[in-house]
Amino acid sequence: MPKNQSIFITKIFHFSSAHFLTDYHGKCENLHGHNYKLEITVKGDMQKNGMVIDFAILKKIVKENIIEKLDHKNLNDLFKNPSAENICIWIWEELENKFDKNINLHEIKLWETENNCVIYKK
Ligand SMILES: [Zn+2]
Repeated sequence: MPKNQSIFITKIFHFSSAHFLTDYHGKCENLHGHNYKLEITVKGDMQKNGMVIDFAILKKIVKENIIEKLDHKNLNDLFKNPSAENICIWIWEELENKFDKNINLHEIKLWETENNCVIYKK
């Protein structure tokens, strides 16, 4: 494979949390919950073992640093305004330096409902 090509790896996670939006007027200013779907995409070069990153390692990093902190929590205890946008930015900052140097975080996609998602990348 040519050296300048990257391979993208995505893993999907789920967590359930409560929140209400501050600085907002409408239904979502009341406490309610979501079953969030989180898609984490990393990119990197192929290693000698034929993988970019072991899915099990990706799972462990995201579970320990993100899912365990957000799942079954009231997000307003953790964020000033837990919009999907703010949660995405926080997830990026939490994960950014957690991977080996051959792996870069590429994109975070956070689905708040089946139809609504926020995409964050730098
Ligand atoms: Zn909501």
